[in-house]
Amino acid sequence: MRGADYGVHKVADTTVDWKSLREDFPILREQAHGHPLIYFDSAATSQKPRAVIEALRNFYEHENANVHRGLHTLSSRATEAYEKARKRVAEYIGAPSADEIIFTRGTTESINLVAQAWGGKFIREGDVILLTEMEHHSNLVPWQLLAERTGARLRFVPVLDDGTLDLAHLPKLLTQEVKLFAFTHISNSLGTINPVAELCEKAHAVGALALVDAAQSVGHLTLNVGELGCDFMAFSGHKMCGPTGIGALYARKEILDSIPPWHGGGEMIVSVALEKSTFKKAPHRFEAGTPNIAGAIGLAAAIDYLDGIGRAAIFQHDLQLARYACDRLTELPRTRVFGPAEERGALVGFVMDAAHPHDLTTFADQYGLALRGGHHCNQPLMRRFGVSGTTRASFYFYNTKEEIDRMIEILHKAARFFK
Ligand SMILES: *Cc1c(COP(=O)(O)O)cnc(C)c1O
Repeated sequence: MRGADYGVHKVADTTVDWKSLREDFPILREQAHGHPLIYFDSAATSQKPRAVIEALRNFYEHENANVHRGLHTLSSRATEAYEKARKRVAEYIGAPSADEIIFTRGTTESINLVAQAWGGKFIREGDVILLTEMEHHSNLVPWQLLAERTGARLRFVPVLDDGTLDLAHLPKLLTQEVKLFAFTHISNSLGTINPVAELCEKAHAVGALALVDAAQSVGHLTLNVGELGCDFMAFSGHKMCGPTGIGALYARKEILDSIPPWHGGGEMIVSVALEKSTFKKAPHRFEAGTPNIAGAIGLAAAIDYLDGIGRAAIFQHDLQLARYACDRLTELPRTRVFGPAEERGALVGFVMDAAHPHDLTTFADQYGLALRGGHHCNQPLMRRFGVSGTTRASFYFYNTKEEIDRMIEILHKAARFFK
């Protein structure tokens, strides 16, 4: 029940029948307040295609058992499916080996793993972790905690008014004291797509490692950790059509071999005596306890599904929707749109003078339109732009231009309502 079965949507080489893909998502038929649902909150979590829901169901109906420990049939099936999912994730991001993929709960846990296990071993007082002003709290707070524990310092690459990074400042910030440069691939508030390969190369030039937060990119564009040159990559399954509670950390093998475990427990040991234990190699050394087996299998099904459509096509579709939304938002009275004008990910943040983002989002919900209002786990970035929050419309391949037209109509209504 894998792979090609779900790759049937290509109409011609470069044409995808986007409208028919919507039928793969049962939830898109829901109504909210008596209106057809318009789901513009995929940057918070994407919807799930039937292929993923079925993969979860198939696992629980036919394969469910604990992994690695059992010698019975179901345990072998579960172990095989779980390890196959790991290979599938590795392949999807171009990692040379499945041993470089650690299953985690998601982006947040992946970054915390690096901060605690790698940071705990290698970061000393006076070292610098370089971040950017546009980081999600997930790629900020773990480094603050590490800095407090170790006496390391944090530095930030500023963001320009157009929502791109101020790279002219980089040489002053990226100095020999920097041990890690951690940054997002696509900003979840601005839509900015950062030049990952260039940033990784610059990090390496001063002897620093590079960590990429790929939460907003890995389900939306083709990427390859080898070509990007990153040392760590963190992402979540639930923003790329997979289940919640599963994600991954990619890290280069030499790095994983050099760092100690972070959680202790079952599954990660070779032998345990009362006073001391020895640990398995990566990746299992970093996966203590019973893992999210079903989640990993669901994530592999999501990957098959996305590859069936083609990430290059998804990226083009994203770009078109985001551009169209930006253009149409300029028609609204006293509305400020954030982020770069040209290339951007599948989202747009904006502020209407007429209403606070929370009020606007509540108003939109009355018409079945799911937007998100607030700081989007980007409080420092909001401060940088002098706002407490924005309203964000975020898209995926199952959204349409007609839905954006409907959003504009609803926002016009809001402008009149709140006047
Ligand atoms: C969503 C998001 C995260 C956090 O992901 P979780 O799934 O909540 O762990 C981190 N960074 C970015 C850019 C995000 O969009």
